Amino acid sequence: MEENKYICPQCGEEMMETYDKPALNLVCPKCGCQIATSRWEEIDLDDNDYEIVLKAVSNPNIEIVKFVSKLTGLNFINSKAIVEKGGALLKAKANEIKEKRDLLINKNIEFEIKPFFPYK
Ligand SMILES: [Zn+2]
Repeated sequence: MEENKYICPQCGEEMMETYDKPALNLVCPKCGCQIATSRWEEIDLDDNDYEIVLKAVSNPNIEIVKFVSKLTGLNFINSKAIVEKGGALLKAKANEIKEKRDLLINKNIEFEIKPFFPYK
């Protein structure tokens, strides 16, 4: 972890990383000195479109349908159809996909991401 430490050039305090999307900045907690870095998260540079595809759920419970409706902006009937048949839920860039993926995992909804999604 040593290599991830940044020392403030003004006062010698260890600097904190602040992730000010999409760039990573360093801020000194003691004197407030700031340094912008050129480090970017790989996911921010990913320009691919990814697709979240739901697996079919027979007799989905209402919570799942409501959740899908909220996620997609579709009405209840259309959301229920997607959940029952399975199918593409949404197509988006990596950052948005990651956010939605985490929500789906929280709800225990089964899905795939196409193409292969390399981010944790
Ligand atoms: Zn400082």
